[in-house]
Amino acid sequence: MAFIHRRGLLLGAAALGMGAFMQRASAQAPAAAAAPAPTGPFTLAPLPYGFDANEASIDARTMELHWRFHHGAQVANLNRALVGQDAFAAMPLDELLMNLSRAPEAVRGAIRNNGGGHANHSMFWEIMGGQGGEPTGDLLAAINRDLGGMTEFRNRFNAASMGVFGSGWAFVTVTPSGSLAIATRPNQDSPLMDGQRVLMGNDVWEHAYYLRYQNRRNEYVSNWWNILNWDRIAARYGAAVTGTLRV
Ligand code: MN
Repeated sequence: MAFIHRRGLLLGAAALGMGAFMQRASAQAPAAAAAPAPTGPFTLAPLPYGFDANEASIDARTMELHWRFHHGAQVANLNRALVGQDAFAAMPLDELLMNLSRAPEAVRGAIRNNGGGHANHSMFWEIMGGQGGEPTGDLLAAINRDLGGMTEFRNRFNAASMGVFGSGWAFVTVTPSGSLAIATRPNQDSPLMDGQRVLMGNDVWEHAYYLRYQNRRNEYVSNWWNILNWDRIAARYGAAVTGTLRV
């Protein structure tokens, strides 16, 4: 019954439509309750593929709800937190996250949660929509050198994903010299907040997998590899070593 109830809530939220959802989100931020939601500086980019592109591992309904409502709310709430914070609103997202400690305390938590969520989800959409398989070239060489090869990498990454208690993310970080490491963060925190760069990562919040997998996070994290786009991940690796990788 708990599952049915939860599904009903999710579908009900979708039926409200984006406008109603944004009004409700706005009502949760007292300081901005009377003002229309700001439309910038950050925006929710379209997915680089259809909602059904990851159907082999993630159902289209989950993709749409996750992108439109979860990521969408984070972009809206990030923009809301940046109203009147001109210096921070002018920063690119990675810079904003690297300078969290300088943000006014009243908005620091909102920037951390929603800015981190915006960065994490933007990366997440980018690296999926593929057919899985394995990388080649410099990226494969780095995985063999730093993560013990693909089989060991998958095992260690899946174990890290399973080890996240509650809501959070598993990542592969990449240094400017191309070294790779597995990391996890709670909630919507990002290694960007510690001045690191993210090669790839998996969202292990329940909203990322609950409709199809319910409590079976292990099935989700092992199936996730089948829809990775290694061309895009390799492009991120190349950008990391040339210093142009942002979020
Ligand atoms: Mn998510």
